[in-house]
Amino acid sequence: MLVINPEECIDCNLCVPECPVDAIYSEDDLPEDQHLFLALNERLSQQWPVLNTVKPPPKDAGDWENVRDKLEHLQE
Ligand code: SF4
Repeated sequence: MLVINPEECIDCNLCVPECPVDAIYSEDDLPEDQHLFLALNERLSQQWPVLNTVKPPPKDAGDWENVRDKLEHLQE
C-alpha cells in the first residue's frame, strides 16, 4: 500500500488510470465506503517515507489484489 499526501496532490488524476487494481479515486468520485481513507492518507503520508523512484511491486502483490476489506491487515 502507498498513500498520497493530500496537501501535495494537485488533483490532476493522472494516477487514477495507472493503478493496476483501481485503488485510486479522485476525491469527487470516492465511494462512500472509502471515505475513511481520506484521513488515513493524510496521516500516513506524514509518517511514511516519500517514494521518489520507481519500485517493483511487492512479491505478494498478486495475492492481495482481489482481497477486499484488508484494512485490518495494515501495519503502520
Ligand atoms: S498523479 Fe495522482 S497523486 Fe499525483 S498529483 Fe495527480 S492526482 Fe495527485
